[in-house]
Amino acid sequence: MKSIKELAKNPNFIPGIYNYCNRWCERCSFTSQCANYAIGEDRFGDLKNTDLNNAQFWERLAGVLSETMEMVREKAQEFGIDLDNLTEAEKVPDFEDMESHFLVQLCLKYEKLSTEWFKESVYVDLETAEFIESKQIELKDATEVIRWYQYLIEVKFRRALLTFTEEDEEFTLIDRNGSAKVALIGIDRSLAAWNVILNVIKDQAKSILEIVALLRRIKKIAEKQLPDARSFIRTGLDE
Ligand code: SF4
Repeated sequence: MKSIKELAKNPNFIPGIYNYCNRWCERCSFTSQCANYAIGEDRFGDLKNTDLNNAQFWERLAGVLSETMEMVREKAQEFGIDLDNLTEAEKVPDFEDMESHFLVQLCLKYEKLSTEWFKESVYVDLETAEFIESKQIELKDATEVIRWYQYLIEVKFRRALLTFTEEDEEFTLIDRNGSAKVALIGIDRSLAAWNVILNVIKDQAKSILEIVALLRRIKKIAEKQLPDARSFIRTGLDE
């Protein structure tokens, strides 16, 4: 294994790229440029190829979100689930107490609902079963994405909210927006993953859409309360 000093000299590594990533190295498209990955794994085989495959995976998933949105809206309407509007209480920002912060509470609710959803047995007819079989990879991937971000979203928002009490203004802004951006990307990807599941397990549409609606509310509230997070440029990852 190479020493940290040796690794630091490698001009291919992007300094600090790991500061605001999601730590999902197996799915990362920057492993070949990340010293943190190299230190932990010491793998230099075909990283560029792996990175490319991973980049394509995330692109495909992002495509799912826009492609399936209309279908999701129609389904939500059918069940009377509002995907777009916040309640009056949700419109009121509250930065006072992190434990009771509305954003954190909603994230906890999301964690609970999604955990419960995966615990429930899903009964499907033969036709659906065959369809799922043909889509098994998609379902597996979507589940992995949801699982990976399930708790990370809350952790990253907590971190972003915590910075409101920090005194170093420059660090505060970077850390707040960097952390919140990871959470927002996690929400986008989780939404796309839930759309994949909805597309396959149609008879669970109502329970899936309730989770989707909650995630969308979390996203809206976060974008309102942390307005600069979306446009924050994370070194390497967003450049
Ligand atoms: S940037 Fe990628 S490879 Fe590096 S620590 Fe983050 S997820 Fe892992």
